[in-house]
Amino acid sequence: TVHNKTIIISNRLPVKITEHNGEYRLRPSEGGLATGLGSVYKRGNNVWIGWPGIEVPEDRQDEVRQKLAEFNLIPVFLTNEEISLYYEGFSNEVLWPIFHYLTTYANFEQTYWDSYKSVNEKFRDTVIQNINDGDTIWVHDYQLLLLPCLVRTERPAVTIGFFQHIPFPSYEILRVIPWREEIISGMLGADLLGFHTFDDVKHFLSAVSMLSSSKQSENIIMHKNRQIVVESFPMGIDYQKFESLTRHEKVAKHTANFKESHQNTKIMLSIDRLDYSKGILQRLQALELLLQMHPEYIDKISLFMIVVPSRDTVPKYKELRDQIDQLVGNINSRFRTLNWVPIHYFYRSFSVEFLSALYSIADICIVTPMRDGMNLVSKEYVASRTKNDGVLILSEMAGASKELNDALIVNPNNIGDVMRAINRAINMPPDEQNTRMTSMRHIVKKFDINLWVKNFMDKLLEVKEIQQSLL
Ligand code: UDP
Repeated sequence: TVHNKTIIISNRLPVKITEHNGEYRLRPSEGGLATGLGSVYKRGNNVWIGWPGIEVPEDRQDEVRQKLAEFNLIPVFLTNEEISLYYEGFSNEVLWPIFHYLTTYANFEQTYWDSYKSVNEKFRDTVIQNINDGDTIWVHDYQLLLLPCLVRTERPAVTIGFFQHIPFPSYEILRVIPWREEIISGMLGADLLGFHTFDDVKHFLSAVSMLSSSKQSENIIMHKNRQIVVESFPMGIDYQKFESLTRHEKVAKHTANFKESHQNTKIMLSIDRLDYSKGILQRLQALELLLQMHPEYIDKISLFMIVVPSRDTVPKYKELRDQIDQLVGNINSRFRTLNWVPIHYFYRSFSVEFLSALYSIADICIVTPMRDGMNLVSKEYVASRTKNDGVLILSEMAGASKELNDALIVNPNNIGDVMRAINRAINMPPDEQNTRMTSMRHIVKKFDINLWVKNFMDKLLEVKEIQQSLL
C-alpha cells in the first residue's frame, strides 16, 4: 500500500529563484514558517505546493519543476497577469484591507475576483494531480480561501486543514465584500480551520451563521454532514534560533559597533514591512509629541525605524511611503542637534544577523499596528533579550497582545497613550523590566513554531478520527 502523505499549500513556495545568465538558481527560504513546516514537507513523500515567485516561460517550466522537486517542492506557475489580478489585485487590494478593517482602501474589481477564482482552480488542479484519498493537505492563508472547497468537491475523502495568518474581521466588515458567500463556502471545505486568536474564531463562526445554513455548537460546525472544527492556534517563532543568534560572532560585532556610537542614548526599535496596517505614522507622531512635551529627552532617545519595502506597485503603499518620508524629515529637521538625530530611518531589508543585533541593543521595541494577525517582530524581540531586560510596547490590535500581556499595551490611535508608554519605558526600573521580560520569554519559548505545527497537525488528525467515528 502507498503511504499517506501530507501536502502543504501556500501562495508562495519557501524558495527564492533568481536568473543568472539564463540559468535558474534556487535558494531555500529561512523564514520562521518555512523552518517550522520543514518538519512536515521535507519528510517522506510529503511536498509543498505553491507559486515559485517569478514568471517562468512555458518552455523552461520543466527545468524549474525538476530543480524544485529536489527540495520536495511542486510549482504552480502563474503569469504576470494572474499575479497582478489575483495576488496584487484581489488578495492585496480587497482581502488584505478588508480583513485589516480598512474598508475604504478596497477596490472591488470584478476582474480581480474572476482571476482569484481561476487561480484557486489552478492550484486545485495541481493538488488533484498529486493527491490520493487518505492524504492530508494543509492550506495556508488568504490567497487560497476557495481552495478547501474546490479540493473537497473533487476528492471528498481527503483531510483538509486551513490556517489564516491574517485577522478574520467581524461580520459587519466582511459583509461589504460582494463575494462573501463564495468565500465562506470555499473555506468550509476544510475539516479544521485555524486562526491566531479566539476573536478571529468568533468572527468566523458568526460569519458562517450569517452566510450559511449550517448548524453550529460552540466551535463546531455541521456542514453538509461533515463536522468542522474552528480553533485558535497562536503562531510562534523559532525561539531557539533567535536566542542563539545573539551569541553569533557576526551579531556580536554589530552589537559592539552600535554600543560604542550610542553610549548615552536610549535606543528604541521598530521593524515592519511597509504597510498601512502597521501604524507607522502614529508611532512617529507619538515620538514627535514626546520630544515636544518633554524636551529633556532631546539627544537622550533615538528611534531606529526599519521599514522593509513591500507591495510597492499598489498605489496606497506608495502614498504611505511618501507620507513616512515627509514625517521623518519634519521631525528630524525640527529636533535634531549637531550630534544627534531622533529617527534613523531605513527603507530596506537586513540580514537576520543584523536584525538580531538590533534586537539585542534596543532598550525599547515599539510595535503599533492598527491591526495585525499575530506580529512576529514582537516575539523575536522577546526571544533576543537573553538578559531579561528591555521593554516591549505593543498594540492591543496585534494578535500577539493576547499572549504578551506583560508588554506595555497601547491603543495606537491614542497618540498620547503611546507617548506615555514611551516615557514609561524609558524610565522603567530594571527589576520591573526583568519581571515582565522573564514572563514573556517563558511564553515565547514554550509556544514556539514547532509546537504550533504539532498542535495544528495533531488537532487535524483528531478531527478526522472523530468524523470517521461518526459515520
Ligand atoms: N524581517 C525580515 N527582514 C527584514 C526585517 C524583518 O525578514 O529586513 C522579518 C522579521 O524578522 C519577521 C517578519 O519579517 O519575522 C515580519 O513578520 P510580522 O509578523 O511582524 O509582520 P508581517 O510582515 O508578516 O505582516
